[in-house]
Amino acid sequence: MTVPSARRIHVVGAGPVGLMLTALLQSMDGLSVHLYEKRREYTRTRMVRLASYLVADSVASYRNDHIDGETVEAVFDPAELDESLAFRRSIPPDLMSLLQEWSQGFCPLNSIERTISDLIDTRGTSNVQRTVAVVTFDEAVAMLEPGDTLIDCTGCSSLLRDHLVPESAEDGDANTLNIRLEYALVITFLYGQSYECNEYCKYYKNVDNTHYKFIPAVHRTYYDGSISHVTGIVNISAEDYEAMPPRFDGQWLRSNFPGVAESMDRFIDKVKLETSGELLGDLEIVRIPLNLYRARNATSRRWLTSATGDHPFASSPVFLLGDSAIGSPYFQSISLGFECAMFLAGLIAQRDLPLRDMFDRYELHMYKQWLRVYMRSKMIKHNKDLFETVDDKFATLEKLHIY
Ligand SMILES: Cc1cc2nc3c(=O)[nH]c(=O)nc-3n(C[C@H](O)[C@H](O)[C@H](O)COP(=O)(O)OP(=O)(O)OC[C@H]3O[C@@H](n4cnc5c(N)ncnc54)[C@H](O)[C@@H]3O)c2cc1C
Repeated sequence: MTVPSARRIHVVGAGPVGLMLTALLQSMDGLSVHLYEKRREYTRTRMVRLASYLVADSVASYRNDHIDGETVEAVFDPAELDESLAFRRSIPPDLMSLLQEWSQGFCPLNSIERTISDLIDTRGTSNVQRTVAVVTFDEAVAMLEPGDTLIDCTGCSSLLRDHLVPESAEDGDANTLNIRLEYALVITFLYGQSYECNEYCKYYKNVDNTHYKFIPAVHRTYYDGSISHVTGIVNISAEDYEAMPPRFDGQWLRSNFPGVAESMDRFIDKVKLETSGELLGDLEIVRIPLNLYRARNATSRRWLTSATGDHPFASSPVFLLGDSAIGSPYFQSISLGFECAMFLAGLIAQRDLPLRDMFDRYELHMYKQWLRVYMRSKMIKHNKDLFETVDDKFATLEKLHIY
């Protein structure tokens, strides 16, 4: 079976990744894209930055990351890297210039979403149709005609992930591998001076914090000329997590978890001592489980080969993309989702590619991206664990396995 030439592609979920994929497919001939999104407005204001590998123009610049570089070389073949760089060169300039801008500095997530959304609309092509609606599983199945492609970009609580394997009826998590690394508070604040962080700063500003330590993410501390945007995490227990609402402010933290609040206040006081600035506004806090997960099958390949053969996913290929396929807890996920969107768009562009080959290539690519994310996340988690005990020599040695 080959993928038919005039194809309808349904993209469910217009978060950053669904929008990016749509903008990539929009400029390809012979495709009609239907994009579904349940939200009417883009309201997520957290500051994010895209990885520079997204706009790399050479293998050397693609690998220019001191943690990731070697893994990329170990996991991907040179021909695969060449192919992904070739695809980048084919990205329309209107979209590429946005990626270049977002990989330079920080930007609110909703501004990325709005900008790509506006770009799709203002290009004025007739091959993208948009619908505002919550799509259910049954509706997703019902809208498929044989040969249509369905791409699930609905985020971490994916609409289709656990429907991609025949055994999902018995086991709801049949297609998800989930590793809970820790529970954390993600704390964001604005500071009225330039403030930059590094590993020494994380250590010295936490020296008196024996239990809860605030760890700013170096690449998420950003000075815009007058204000520093600081985001970091505090490791909390499962009991703490259960006792907290999903989202709250500094005042709630001080009243209910004074121990965490004191560690934050100590940290911020040390920042103030150094740079004589002030906290602007309040702390913004969300509590999240830091899950490292992947879909064991990122396509409907299992339905294609299943004995029943009459399931709609046996005749209409399904792909998971973005957070619906892989979740990495230490926040490189938008870049990862964009990278995979480029790969999938590159496969869709190859009209003569048999569907089985397309599935195999996408699955292999997603597996390699998973290895990359898994190694990076485990290393960060391990370093964080060592950091928590760095003043207690024996506790640190307990965590080490050397040779
Ligand atoms: C606190 C926090 C901080 C983060 N910081 C960063 C960061 O600095 N850098 C980074 O790269 N990543 C960061 N991330 C992760 C990043 O936000 C996600 O990786 C990214 O949003 C994933 O994009 P996505 O398009 O795959 O999914 P989502 O952003 O989750 O988008 C899914 C879309 O699908 C829509 N949808 C869902 N279900 C349906 C349905 N049934 N019908 C119709 N529409 C549906 C949703 O409304 C949504 O618009 C952070 C995450 C959190 C929680």
